[in-house]
Amino acid sequence: MLNIVLFGPPGAGKGTQSEKLIDKYKLTHLSTGDIFRANIKGQTELGTLAKSYMDKGQLVPDEVTIKMLEAEVNKNPNSNGFIFDGFPRTQAQAEALDKLLASKNTSITLMLALEVEEVELKKRLLLRGKDSGRADDQNPDVIQKRIDVYNSETSPVKDFYTAQGKYKGTNGIGEIEEIFNALCSIINAQNKIFK
Ligand code: ADP
Repeated sequence: MLNIVLFGPPGAGKGTQSEKLIDKYKLTHLSTGDIFRANIKGQTELGTLAKSYMDKGQLVPDEVTIKMLEAEVNKNPNSNGFIFDGFPRTQAQAEALDKLLASKNTSITLMLALEVEEVELKKRLLLRGKDSGRADDQNPDVIQKRIDVYNSETSPVKDFYTAQGKYKGTNGIGEIEEIFNALCSIINAQNKIFK
């Protein structure tokens, strides 16, 4: 299996690159943000709970997020592999993911990180807010909070994968196709080792 954690701050381009990667490598895309938004739209209990955190730019509690992610992985028993997009966002989530994959005799192949500086992120998020109507992209205070939460809680997750020799960072600024090619080169190089 090829299991990738696509990592980076809000607005780094994880969603865009995930779409291209799942197509090329035939992987299952699991975006926790997308799953929460689908639940909000469907007015489920999980959606109502998630919304109360997302609207403030806070993380949804680990317990809830981990349970949901595990259920999604379990729904895809015959997958070639997964792209985890927006997960793990905390050390506890990273540990839970390792445990879950180990119980299925697999593991994370690599963490691909899109590196984009803060000024560029804020510009992108505000632009996306205009186009997508996502409430959390329209309020500068909420955007700042998400970036702060990323820096304090999520960024350390890279150390978790660095310690396992799995962290690969790449520049997230440039043409979409150029960034995609850089990601593919990293995957192909690593995948040879794992085959
Ligand atoms: P972005 O990366 O642009 O912030 P996402 O769609 O990944 O957007 O996430 C939107 C929101 O959903 C986050 O701000 C957070 O509230 C919630 N969320 C998504 N993934 C997680 C997660 N793994 N743990 C906790 N909260 C999450």
